[in-house]
Amino acid sequence: MSCDFIHQALPAVQRLSPYQPGKPEAELRRELGLAHIVKLASNENPLGCSPQATAAMQAALTDVARYPDGNGYALKQALASRFALAPECITLGNGSNDVLELLGRAYLGPGRHAVFSEHAFAVYPLVVQAVGAEARVAPALAADSAMPYGHDLAAFRQRIDHDTRLVFIANPNNPTGTWLGAAELDHFLTTVPPNTLVVIDEAYYEYAEAPDYASVAPWLSRWPNLVVVRTFSKAYGLAGLRVGYALSHPEVADILNRVRQPFNVNSLALCAAEAALDDSVFLSASREVNRQGAVQLQAACERLGLRVLPSAANFLCIDLARPGAPIFEHLLQRGVIVRPIAGYGLPNALRVTIGTSAENQHFITALTEVLATA
Ligand SMILES: *Cc1c(COP(=O)(O)O)cnc(C)c1O
Repeated sequence: MSCDFIHQALPAVQRLSPYQPGKPEAELRRELGLAHIVKLASNENPLGCSPQATAAMQAALTDVARYPDGNGYALKQALASRFALAPECITLGNGSNDVLELLGRAYLGPGRHAVFSEHAFAVYPLVVQAVGAEARVAPALAADSAMPYGHDLAAFRQRIDHDTRLVFIANPNNPTGTWLGAAELDHFLTTVPPNTLVVIDEAYYEYAEAPDYASVAPWLSRWPNLVVVRTFSKAYGLAGLRVGYALSHPEVADILNRVRQPFNVNSLALCAAEAALDDSVFLSASREVNRQGAVQLQAACERLGLRVLPSAANFLCIDLARPGAPIFEHLLQRGVIVRPIAGYGLPNALRVTIGTSAENQHFITALTEVLATA
């Protein structure tokens, strides 16, 4: 009996391609038997996580037979007091990807559409297409603009109409690292229909230090259609635990709460995130390592004659001016995992997470060799 379970799926789901994660260290070790591997592929924190978070998880291990607090009371309280918002404005997620998906499930579907940029985070098209909604892609800024390949809000605006339920803006954006200034975003919000939710994905905001950059979380009272999405995966170093959150109008949070899984954030993640939020020493150290690493990598790229896109995040998008895939492969042979981003429409670029000074040096040495020989 023949079966065809691909074609039994929803047409929109059949057309999806799965998310391509960074290559895991253990996989490269299996394949090549290399002793020393440097992974700079998934924008993880090279310092690990806060020791307070580790201690909180250890204490919580005794309780894993119990379901987690399905409402995440303690973490929501901690976030609410940190950002001066009511807990009713907060939605917790199994990573911020979960929150993005909840937004899609709650607000999109056939006949509705969402707008996001070319070269934006790969999860947006997945979230939109999985529910049969239309993705309208705004062309990015030109390669020779001040924010090469960055978000073009005028192009966004042209694609928004009364059926646009969601707009996804990553600020700073992954994989380019480019960002939008606060004044630009503020002006954009004045032009968006009040019923269109504008989702600002601030996965890297803790790293963003450009003078014109600002988190839009303080604007929630001014713009009821604003949704701010954040994560503990990057600066807080908890990627493996999966915890993120949205800050929004309480009605949006109410809706997301109806579609989420009852226990979508696990108990270790809840208490680690709460402890991590409290550790400003770890966060400052993470920022400092990132600042220094950015300088180190930028200087090396300059020596190699490579253009680096402006970045406000914990990674750099390096323009190789030739196909990135073979360079990626050669770097793997030398135990360095970075991210080729042809799938994001940038075939001549590599995205490199800023690591510790030693990790960055390992990458620089490998890249220098590869470019000299490849
Ligand atoms: C890494 C990243 C996230 C975080 O995803 P999690 O599910 O929270 O790990 C979200 N948005 C962007 C743009 C990212 O790069």
